[in-house]
Amino acid sequence: MKRQGVKKMGYILKQKSKVKYLTISSFEESGLVKHGFSTRIGGFSKAPYDTLNLGLKKDDDKATVMQNYRAICDALEIKLSDLVSSDQVHENDVYLVKKSDRGKGITKQSDIVAKDALITNEKNVALVTYYADCVPLFFLDTITPAIGLAHAGWRGTVKMIGQKTLNKMADVFGSNPKDILVGIGPCINKCCYEVDEPVVYEFRKTFNYWEKLVEKKSDNHWMLDLVLANRLQLENAGIDKSNISICEFCTSCRNDLFFSHRADDKKTGSLAAFIQLI
Ligand SMILES: [Zn+2]
Repeated sequence: MKRQGVKKMGYILKQKSKVKYLTISSFEESGLVKHGFSTRIGGFSKAPYDTLNLGLKKDDDKATVMQNYRAICDALEIKLSDLVSSDQVHENDVYLVKKSDRGKGITKQSDIVAKDALITNEKNVALVTYYADCVPLFFLDTITPAIGLAHAGWRGTVKMIGQKTLNKMADVFGSNPKDILVGIGPCINKCCYEVDEPVVYEFRKTFNYWEKLVEKKSDNHWMLDLVLANRLQLENAGIDKSNISICEFCTSCRNDLFFSHRADDKKTGSLAAFIQLI
């Protein structure tokens, strides 16, 4: 059988009432999940969190953020009380979410600490992770079935969070990488992601193909391709190229549609990834 390439723009931009969000075509076609990635459009927060800020730890009005959650949950047809949120610290720990965790970090106090990736095989448990330039990784094992989300900034990428999430899915659910669909969501692309020598050093140390991931602009100025870094990491872990969907939106170029840590000069809202088995 002819092998297909990576699915660029395997994402669809949708709108329900005023809320704009993205879904992954292959995940939708599986019929196994409800899922989506939020934009900044369709919420109630004021600048600099305008408008669909989902970060409860930001200096934004909490009641307004909860109003934003209700709007996105409505659009994705996910119950607010089923959400379980990560606690992200740019590390690589993966947390196995259980039904008893529902509500944690959103409608209830959370005891989930320092977890940048979440996995589950239970139904009616909605995983939530946060972004504003970092790389969102969506995982769907269509056979067992099981799901996962991981937050991969440059630190998480170097700490192999994508591979660690796959390894934990294999250990806990018996997932085979060949059965796993991956979505690489909207993030800062190479066009806008300038880094300095110490960051490039970490990539050089970790990946023998590091030269593919960076482009030198001038002394101590490099452009870094986090999308490619994560794609190659996942392919090397056994994910089939044709099972990877890549969203081509750059969060910094499309600051009208997304919150961007870089474009908004650090004071900005949080986008979120959502996924739930049905
Ligand atoms: Zn860009």
